[in-house]
Amino acid sequence: MDELEHKYEVIIKETEDKQKLPEDVKVELKASGMMDEKGKLKLKGVSPKMLKKMKQEFVECPVLKENIQFIQCFVCPNFQSRVMGKVLCKGDKL
Ligand code: SF4
Repeated sequence: MDELEHKYEVIIKETEDKQKLPEDVKVELKASGMMDEKGKLKLKGVSPKMLKKMKQEFVECPVLKENIQFIQCFVCPNFQSRVMGKVLCKGDKL
């Protein structure tokens, strides 16, 4: 049995397109120290190589009903963990 309670398992997909983070997400990332003033991401325990890969990833978010890039999903209050190419998502209303 899964130890984490979650509502959705969302498959992580990849895109070749350049993905941009919405302004409000950037503000949030900066406020929590995960992005510097220049807009460079600083995620603990994430190597530059992993970060590069993460930037190409997105999920079809079942809550927001739109494609959300993985970095945004990663910092979402519903994010629980990433397991074998899937996001375990609490599924609460945002
Ligand atoms: S963690 Fe947040 S962004 Fe990711 S799938 Fe769930 S609700 Fe959507």
